[in-house]
Amino acid sequence: MQRLKDKVALVTGAARGIGASIAEIFSAEGAVVILTDITDTLGHAAATRIGSSASYQRLDVRREPDWQRVVDDITDRHGQLDILVNNAGITGFTETEGPHDPENLDVASWNSVHATNLTGTALGCKYAIRAMKPRGGSIINISSRSGVVGIPGAAAYAASKAGVRNHTKTVALYCAERGMAIRCNSIHPAAILTPMWDEMLGKGEARENALAAVEKDIPLGYIGEPKDVAYAALYLASDESRYVTGTELTVDGGILAGSAARPDK
Ligand code: NDP
Repeated sequence: MQRLKDKVALVTGAARGIGASIAEIFSAEGAVVILTDITDTLGHAAATRIGSSASYQRLDVRREPDWQRVVDDITDRHGQLDILVNNAGITGFTETEGPHDPENLDVASWNSVHATNLTGTALGCKYAIRAMKPRGGSIINISSRSGVVGIPGAAAYAASKAGVRNHTKTVALYCAERGMAIRCNSIHPAAILTPMWDEMLGKGEARENALAAVEKDIPLGYIGEPKDVAYAALYLASDESRYVTGTELTVDGGILAGSAARPDK
């Protein structure tokens, strides 16, 4: 099936992990896909792997001129933008000095995480709304389970993802109120095995043990793959979800369905 036939999609943070998988599955479903990232070599390679329906452009989501340039280029070249996936995100663990607990947080690190995760998403929404206004479209914001619950060791990440969750609803209502056929929804993944986990899991035997410990706490019993999130994004990107806006789709193996304090424990 070509569920995204004739659609043009922009995916941020698409050089690897969840973003690369979204780009691949969107392309397989008939979309023209523009992959963007700040890791150019990997980004070009990901687009080449997908084939002629995909291309790569550098877009640092923190930089407004990058958004302007890339969205202008897409509308010049393709005449439309139908789908935006605001996927680029950082934990801050490797990219900033930290610490990231609420008692000791480092303000520069806090701001840096928010610049990518929250400001980057808000800028994406701003330029997508402008480009999608004439024909409508679908904006998909990748939040996290951490946008719904507190994370003591990752205050900035959790707060920024909560901001993404809330901004999604603001955008959804703003567009609906103005009669624009632009939908905006958030996806809340947890425990998806991507390079983002490398630092947290370590290497070799330690990695195997750490992974087993993570999987013990996932109700379905195993860690997810990028395609598990990509298929959720596919639904929200397609016209099958035309009546769905301002909502949250959790993709977490059941983590958010329950509580650690179960009566049998
Ligand atoms: P990865 O770290 O594997 O991939 C993220 C990509 O985004 C990288 O290529 C990264 O480049 C890029 N990126 C970082 N900063 C910017 C920027 N300023 N502008 C553009 N691109 C940037 O992450 P995942 O695939 O795991 O995560 C994707 C999204 O899903 C994120 O928003 C994440 O928070 C969210 N998520 C992931 C979960 C998981 O378990 N994996 C769980 C919950 C949410 P570089 O390598 O140079 O940093």
